Amino acid sequence: MNPLFATLPTSIFEHMSGLARDHDAVNLGQGFPDFGWPDDVVDFAADALRTGSNQYAPMRGLPVLRQAVADHYTRHQNVRTSADEVIVTSGATEALASSILAMVAPGDEVLLIQPLYDAYVPMVRRAGGIPRFMSLTPPDWRLTEEALSAAFTDRTKLVIFCNPHNPTGRMFGADELELLAEACLRHGVIALSDEVWEHVIFDGRRHIPLSSFPGMRDRTVKIGSAGKIFSMTGWKIGWIVAPETLAVPISKAHQFLTFASAPNLQAAAAYGLGKEDMYFETMRANFQQARDTTIAGLGEAGFVALPAEGTYFLSIDLAASGIAASDRDFCERAVREAGVAAIPMSAFYDEGAEGNVVRLCFAKQPETIRAGIEGLRTAKALWKAGS
Ligand code: GLN
Repeated sequence: MNPLFATLPTSIFEHMSGLARDHDAVNLGQGFPDFGWPDDVVDFAADALRTGSNQYAPMRGLPVLRQAVADHYTRHQNVRTSADEVIVTSGATEALASSILAMVAPGDEVLLIQPLYDAYVPMVRRAGGIPRFMSLTPPDWRLTEEALSAAFTDRTKLVIFCNPHNPTGRMFGADELELLAEACLRHGVIALSDEVWEHVIFDGRRHIPLSSFPGMRDRTVKIGSAGKIFSMTGWKIGWIVAPETLAVPISKAHQFLTFASAPNLQAAAAYGLGKEDMYFETMRANFQQARDTTIAGLGEAGFVALPAEGTYFLSIDLAASGIAASDRDFCERAVREAGVAAIPMSAFYDEGAEGNVVRLCFAKQPETIRAGIEGLRTAKALWKAGS
């Protein structure tokens, strides 16, 4: 038995979704939307099941999807991308795993920025890498020059970065991205850039890919996800965009992890990526509306929410909301006694968590949001009563 995995706790998402089911609680924990998906993309997939191939797709992905990903980034982000640079994976989590397994050798130092998505650290350790951490702090979660210069060393081989940022909902600004790019160049570091939330962004913001900074094209491995673009997290179709020197070893790791993914879903994702701009704008507007409804409701219920610029998530500050509880204790009681599941931010730290911020998924219908906020109000009262 490998103790690395045998001793790992169950992922916080599975833990909280399980408790939500057991206690019939509103689930504002695991990040998935509950207000539908583009029907034409689903119809395309259904037709492809009947009329297309149900055999293995090519290992690097269906040519039509690799081309669609390349065209999509050329069109939406002004980054000229070729289909040769694209590897299709079984979701972004597999993209992360393949990239980490291919790029991290035993003893390599990997810089991780906390709070972070829960899959990064176990995969780095599994590859034999040595995680080094730097932390962002609430309420602004900024990447500062001081923190970056202290964190990058000449032993750093890889930095894993996420923008827009899960779990905080921040979008790093061009100034912060530039500092990160400069640090990568100064120390000869490759960036694994998890950009799965690139289309779920608000208030007219524009996503800036890390690879667009001078010198970064050759040292950035970017990860994208159909699940986030089409509000269908169950599809598990993701991709990697990397320069050929990195794409070759990464594809070797991918071939022995999952080899290939469902061809019908790949074909439908290719169709969807070509949809007109209006689709992407409407999708963003719907999520933005859900965010605003949630923030307004939280305010009325006496919660202090931190700014949410992208992703399906926003966070609440328990201390500022007058709740003297740790985020873990609050979430454990909220799901069991108040009928609402949320995720404690400290679950996204390997070390040195702040401990009083809770992440909520707002990508829900108004009734779900209302019921979730009622649950949070009840949870708050539990702590007020000191019971
Ligand atoms: N990406 C989702 C989230 O952050 C969870 C994915 C998962 O459950 N593994 O909530």
